[in-house]
This record gives sequence, structure tokens and C-alpha cells, in this order.
Amino acid sequence: MFAMMQDHMWATSCVEGTKQMAKALAPFVKAGDCVELSGDLGAGKTQFVQGLAAGLGISAQVISPTFNILLSYPDGRIPLFHFDLYRLDEALELEDIGFYDVLEDEGVVCIEWGDKFPEALPDDRLIVCLRSKSALDDADARIIDIDAVGRRSYELRGLWEESLAKEAVRFQGLG
Ligand code: ADP
Ligand code: MG
Repeated sequence: MFAMMQDHMWATSCVEGTKQMAKALAPFVKAGDCVELSGDLGAGKTQFVQGLAAGLGISAQVISPTFNILLSYPDGRIPLFHFDLYRLDEALELEDIGFYDVLEDEGVVCIEWGDKFPEALPDDRLIVCLRSKSALDDADARIIDIDAVGRRSYELRGLWEESLAKEAVRFQGLG
């Protein structure tokens, strides 16, 4: 379940809610779009990508690319490229792993831990930031902030949030 808290700020009550939110983004993404996922370990970044993949019709199981750094899923409506830059030490390594080639490819790119190398990220990107609520709250609740940098991402966020607003539960349901 998910709910809108304020402008561009959402809440989910469980992992399925986060996946549902991500799934609702899928119909609107186009080749060349970039989604940066930020938030601590365990915040739900990889779960988010799983939801997006499901929405794109990707049948393969989406796992964390922490060790592979890049995992690609070509079989959906458009290809999905999933990066996790956690293990990279410096921006120079991005070249070696084909980061810039993938950005020019015909798919949607999701980047976990992109905030390690902000200067290397596309100028136009959606930034989805996941965080837990305070420890006193439900451990399965997350706050999800959606920022848009650049014109295309701004448009994408608008389409996505319009769709989310139709599906969202009322806020008081989600302490
Ligand atoms: P990250 O990629 O940010 O390190 P993961 O997506 O791999 O995190 O893991 C998130 C963990 O938190 C999973 O075990 C998931 O089941 C759990 N979880 C609990 N509540 C939520 C929620 N509302 N949204 C996303 N994940 C949640
Ligand atoms: Mg992850």
C-alpha cells in the first residue's frame, strides 16, 4: 500500500507498496530515461527496481547487482539496465564497466548508489530517495521522495505521480 504525504513525497507501508509504486512508473519510461535510487542499505532500492521490471514485463528474476555492478534485462517492453555502484571506488572505473555506453543505449537505466559519483550521472534524471521512518514506527514503512532533475524527468515524474494519485490510499490509513 502507498499514500501521498505531500508534494513529491510518498509513503509505503510494506515492500509490496514500494513495488507497486515502481510498477506504476513502468508504462511511462522511455529509452534513455535514468532513475537514480538513493537511500541507505536495506532502504528498498533493489525492491523498487524489481517492481519496475515487473511493470516492464520482464520475466527474469531481478537480483541485486552489488557484485556484478551491472545486470541487464533485455526482454521487457524496453531493456532495463540496473547498476549498483556501491563497490566502485572511483569514477574512473565507470568507463571500464561500460557505464557511459549503457547510458547511450536504448533502455531505461536504474542506478543504485549513484550519489557516490554525482558528476558522472546524466544531467536529466529522476531521483527516487527511499528512507525508513523513525525506529518507533513500523519497520516496514518507507518514505519515498521523488525529485526530478531536467525537463524529461520532470515530465516523467508528472505522469507517474498522476497515475499514483489515482491508486493511492488516503493518508490517514498509513500512520
Ligand atoms: P537496498 O537495495 O536499498 O539496499 P533492498 O531493496 O535490497 O535494499 O532491501 C530492502 C529490504 O527491506 C527488503 O528485505 C524488503 O523486504 C524490506 N522492506 C520492508 N519494508 C519495505 C518497504 N516498504 N519498501 C521496500 N523494502 C521494504
Ligand atoms: Mg540494492
